[in-house]
Amino acid sequence: MEPVKLGIIGCGIAARELHWPALKKMADRFKIAVVCNHTEAKAKSFAELAGGAPYVLDYRDALARKDVEAVSIILPFGLNRRVTEDAVHAGKHVMMEKPIAASLDDAIELVSLERNTGVKLMVAENFRYRPLYRRTAEIINQGTAGRVYGAIWNFFTDVTAGANIQYLNTKWRMDDAQYPGGFIIDGGVHITAVIHDLFGEIVTVSGRTACINDNAGKIDTMLTNFTTKRGVVGSINQLYSSKGLRVNALHIFGDKGSLVVDNYGDSITLFTPDSGPIVETVDADRGYTGEYEDFFKAIRFGEPVVSTLEKAYRDYLALVKTMEAAASRITISLEKNPAESLFKVIH
Ligand code: NAP
Repeated sequence: MEPVKLGIIGCGIAARELHWPALKKMADRFKIAVVCNHTEAKAKSFAELAGGAPYVLDYRDALARKDVEAVSIILPFGLNRRVTEDAVHAGKHVMMEKPIAASLDDAIELVSLERNTGVKLMVAENFRYRPLYRRTAEIINQGTAGRVYGAIWNFFTDVTAGANIQYLNTKWRMDDAQYPGGFIIDGGVHITAVIHDLFGEIVTVSGRTACINDNAGKIDTMLTNFTTKRGVVGSINQLYSSKGLRVNALHIFGDKGSLVVDNYGDSITLFTPDSGPIVETVDADRGYTGEYEDFFKAIRFGEPVVSTLEKAYRDYLALVKTMEAAASRITISLEKNPAESLFKVIH
């Protein structure tokens, strides 16, 4: 079968370090037809990395090409709506990076577009494709931990240190207007995606926010309390100015046992009253190949994508509404109003 002729729009960190390593292993499924970055040095060097593909500086020139069937949008995410709308208008399939948008209005417009277009749209939410969380779902479904009633996700890191610095230093992440919600939204959507997939839609949120280090963004700390439609209660603790302590782990509580899912160690540990901890190590794959596999099957075989825009909207909504809830010291319900075509927020 013919590989999909792909345009890469945005040649920054994620394109080079996450997308390209997946794509270069999938030459039978994707051929890079063109790459685009508005600054030439990055466009040129990515084109060289991708085996000498042509490059353009204006994304509309990539969309105008007849030899492009689909595009990956790997831009500051505030551009997702405009570039996706233009791509759909040009008849191209689209994979866009997470989060879906930088505003709820844009996210809602993108979900409407998804419902009304013949081309395939998806969000590159790699956690939806990670073996670690797929295996966690299997263990939960097998009932080993019994009925799950609680979940606590702790994510502690320091975005001003280590490998994180490269993200902090991107121009757009230094600008609050282009990066609303900062790392809480940027990183948090991975967490809410997994919570939604494992425990059902988040239906209420409340929270508290803080700024510990203003170099790490206006809000670098957010504690969220949530409930899900399946009756799971839990919290998500995101601390992006944690000094020394680095943790990224989901704790799951069932009436027969508990699980600790370690994102950094790619392990799942089961604790029950009758046995010591049982540790299972899972394939450390980060899900980028799985995303492109899904995109390929959608384009070539018309299969539905796993990582829809509607799911990404819901992941994003939960975080935006937690910020609002924290600012007003209230609990917000995110239940879907049956009279509305999209999620309605009821205070
Ligand atoms: P980045 O390094 O800044 O990459 C964005 C690129 O887009 C830059 O090279 C930038 O060029 C270029 N650009 C900006 N505006 C443009 C325009 N109008 N036309 C063409 N090119 C333009 O940022 P990043 O860290 O790669 O993030 C990009 C996206 O990937 C974001 O949505 C982010 O959330 C996502 N991401 C996902 C993961 C994950 O694990 N799934 C991890 C990291 C990032 P200049 O720098 O020259 O302005």
